[in-house]
Amino acid sequence: MSFVIPAYNEAGNIAEVIASVHAEATRLDLSHEILIVDDGSSDATCAEAMNAGTRAPVRVLRLSRNFGKEQAIMAGLGSALGDAVVILDADLQEPLSYFETMLRHYQNGYEMVYAVRAHRRDEPRAKRAFTRAFYKMLSLGSRVSIPTDARDFRLMDRRVVDALCALPERDRFMKGLYGWVGFRSIAVPIELEPRRNGTSKFGFAGLFRLALTGLTSFTDWPLRMWTGIGMAIASLSILYGGWIALRTLLFGVDVQGWSTLVVAVCLLGGVQLISIGVLGEYLARVFTEVKGRPGFIIAEETASDAARRQ
Ligand code: UDP
Ligand code: MG
Repeated sequence: MSFVIPAYNEAGNIAEVIASVHAEATRLDLSHEILIVDDGSSDATCAEAMNAGTRAPVRVLRLSRNFGKEQAIMAGLGSALGDAVVILDADLQEPLSYFETMLRHYQNGYEMVYAVRAHRRDEPRAKRAFTRAFYKMLSLGSRVSIPTDARDFRLMDRRVVDALCALPERDRFMKGLYGWVGFRSIAVPIELEPRRNGTSKFGFAGLFRLALTGLTSFTDWPLRMWTGIGMAIASLSILYGGWIALRTLLFGVDVQGWSTLVVAVCLLGGVQLISIGVLGEYLARVFTEVKGRPGFIIAEETASDAARRQ
């Protein structure tokens, strides 16, 4: 069993998470490795992880800079050796007590067992509204089901990991890709705990960027809807034009309507700019993929003695 733990500035948590994972895996009698992906931390995360590794089988992958959580996860999946892989946050928000349940499901034949938040009562109302809107938009016209409120905390069979690693796309929205690859999956509802140390790495801007990546990689309706909007506006304009022509014939010329003209010009200008902007988002995504740069760079890989002995 490989435990992949992405960590960005988690010096305060890393020793504890390694110790608890090691204890839990030993209790369940699992042959295991703990793979810490140091996502370009500027604090002592890397050193702390290696210190903690004197007792546990720890490998540390140090990425050359901060590439973001999705890429850190991919780096971990790419070098995990286990027959099964667990992804876990470094801040201990996801209680390890659920791991045994997940393992049971896995042993019963599920190839992917993922945690979902039982509720979001602890989050501000605005964030909940944004999340709901995001998942609504994501599911519009999509044939892949992307479970709402799923976490990265999950147990995956080797086949799932290989499928994920074989996908060529670089700018990744992992929650969508887990759904896209399919396999027999089951959800386990969990109660999140508050973060142990430090602060969340995802502010509004980070989440917004992730949402854009998700939407541009899993939907195409924002690109296509403009055909419909354009046809609707054109049809209405033709009707309105007909009505004006008729009115002019019946009641003569009428030079009023300055405000109508200004509103129409501004509104249409705005609508056109929005549609070009949407096009730009998708084009930017194509541009990123075409450049073909790797999603992450591993600067250094170290293994503790316990990991080397395995
Ligand atoms: N993380 C990462 N790279 C980043 C940001 C976050 O590897 O650029 C890791 C972080 O160390 C943690 C996990 O992703 O293990 C989840 O981050 P966080 O707890 O800040 O997110 P939240 O729980 O608030 O959604
Ligand atoms: Mg967290």
